[in-house]
Amino acid sequence: MRKAVGLFSGGLDSTLAALLVARQGIKVVGVHFLSPFWKKSTHVLKNALKFGFEVLEVELPEEYLEMLRDPVYGYGKNCNPCIDCKIFMLREARKIMEKVGASFVFTGEVVGQRPKSQLFWSLRVIERDSGLEGLLLRPLSAKLLPPTIPEREGLVDREKLLDIYGRSRKVQFKLAEEWGVEDFSSPAGGCLLTDAVFCARLRRLMQEKIFFSFQDVELLKLGRHFAMSDTFRLVVGRNQKENQRIMSFYEEGDFLFLPRGSKGPVGLGRGKPKSGDVQQAAALVARYCDQKGKALRVNVLSDEGEFSLLVSALSDELIAPYRI
Ligand code: SF4
Repeated sequence: MRKAVGLFSGGLDSTLAALLVARQGIKVVGVHFLSPFWKKSTHVLKNALKFGFEVLEVELPEEYLEMLRDPVYGYGKNCNPCIDCKIFMLREARKIMEKVGASFVFTGEVVGQRPKSQLFWSLRVIERDSGLEGLLLRPLSAKLLPPTIPEREGLVDREKLLDIYGRSRKVQFKLAEEWGVEDFSSPAGGCLLTDAVFCARLRRLMQEKIFFSFQDVELLKLGRHFAMSDTFRLVVGRNQKENQRIMSFYEEGDFLFLPRGSKGPVGLGRGKPKSGDVQQAAALVARYCDQKGKALRVNVLSDEGEFSLLVSALSDELIAPYRI
């Protein structure tokens, strides 16, 4: 049976694109990428079950972070490198296409729906740079785009594809009703890279000259964040649950700050501390302890073992320049 690999986000467009392909007798293998930047979608599996698609949940490789530091086509409003992100995912999809013996890759992209990544020129660039020239079908807007190889070779009937353009989703909602598509995520939901607060933290992480991982990205979602210097950052928990999660991130090379004799948060220092950074981080953690105004002991756990620092809590004014 003919096969096609599709990118499944859990949104309406990718589900409709899959149905347009499946309704031509082509077996759909959906790829749902998992990453710390977006939530796993429950809609993908529900629709797969309902409509008989195969779905592969694939962890996004950490090389994504290298692209994120320096995307060829730049960022959107925040840290979202949408064009490069799509190229990255489609390169991975191409490998899957080859592995499962599929004939082409498809997406739910619609011409003119997004300001930068879904214009005629950017769709062309995405197709070229992902190595899928002629093999990338956008079923929802296919009639507005040059025919792909599967269309030219008769594998896909171009007449049964659509010509949707722009941001209005009227056609999609009508089709969803007709075809019984009920489970899909909100069209407004971008990934975390489009969030301004998260992006500020991420930018700080990317400025460091040291390697960072998806685990560092997970840490960005927790607590208060501070840059003690350009090579050492501190995360301070805001409640018991965050304190516990932050402690679970502790690994070789890190510094864990644990206040003694006072109720207070846990701090996790990561990176390469400069002279005075560790002492200052302990004083910053002390700021969030109950016992304000007094000298406080903060235990520090590191590769060198555990030691104790006597510190005076930093004032909010002194903390402000460190805050990310
Ligand atoms: S919004 Fe996020 S997941 Fe979507 S293309 Fe842009 S960077 Fe990638």
